[in-house]
Amino acid sequence: MNLMYLQCTREALIACIVRLFEKFGLTEKFKLEARLQNWVRDLAAHYNPVIFHNLAHAFNVLHLSSVMWSRIQHQNYFDDVDLLVLFVGTISHDLDHRGLGNTYFVKRKHPWAQTVSGQSVMENYHLHMANLLIDKHGLFHALSPEETSRAKKTLTEMILATDLTKHFKIQSEFEMKIGKFDQKKQEDKDHFLAVIVHACDIANSALPFDHFRSWGVRIVQELEDCFQAELLLPDADKYPPAPFLAYKDKKGFYETQIGFAGYFIAPLLGAMKREWPELAFLHD
Ligand SMILES: [Zn+2]
Repeated sequence: MNLMYLQCTREALIACIVRLFEKFGLTEKFKLEARLQNWVRDLAAHYNPVIFHNLAHAFNVLHLSSVMWSRIQHQNYFDDVDLLVLFVGTISHDLDHRGLGNTYFVKRKHPWAQTVSGQSVMENYHLHMANLLIDKHGLFHALSPEETSRAKKTLTEMILATDLTKHFKIQSEFEMKIGKFDQKKQEDKDHFLAVIVHACDIANSALPFDHFRSWGVRIVQELEDCFQAELLLPDADKYPPAPFLAYKDKKGFYETQIGFAGYFIAPLLGAMKREWPELAFLHD
């Protein structure tokens, strides 16, 4: 599996996204062809050159989700519409990210924060952008009205599940459903798909060490930028940025990475391994 996304140009990433849709039969099944090319180009243009939440990160999440899909016995769980939404959701989940966290927008009293009462501010914005581009390019044109409304509902659950503050709720709900998945229940399908997207979003520690370290350095740099941006806000003395955003030193960097992997990622991948033993390679 080639994971050298960070060395890829935007054009190469665009070609890889289109290729993945083709390889999994989505282009033909949902009559995407030219629409797909136009949508991917538009989508790529809406990812900013920020240090972590850029097009390469979105592709990383899409690629990992395709690996999980290939490994698990997905026919026992999902159908073609679910795969379409999984791919669209993963590649769209951080659209127009500004390299700043939700607290920054809440503290700034930004309109994005006010329209959603401060809840999952950026995730709601990414979802809004995802829907905008899907509709603009008619990406779901081959779906029936019922399938479209179901796909949009699944997309909503998926993208909102990338809010890290929901991690423990998502994980505990998933653990309660292990071994009890009901393929006839859309609610179960949506929840399991959301778990896959969330896991692919945060599971960099499951990648080979050099890739894990590269992404780790990038997220720490972006968090430090966020720390500095929050320091410049009015009332920063009254509402200071969270200390975990600030870079301390190399030792602190490795401690944080190990802590995150042990506290967040390993338990989630461990739970997923219980439902899908085929994913043990990611946990182990
Ligand atoms: Zn992400």
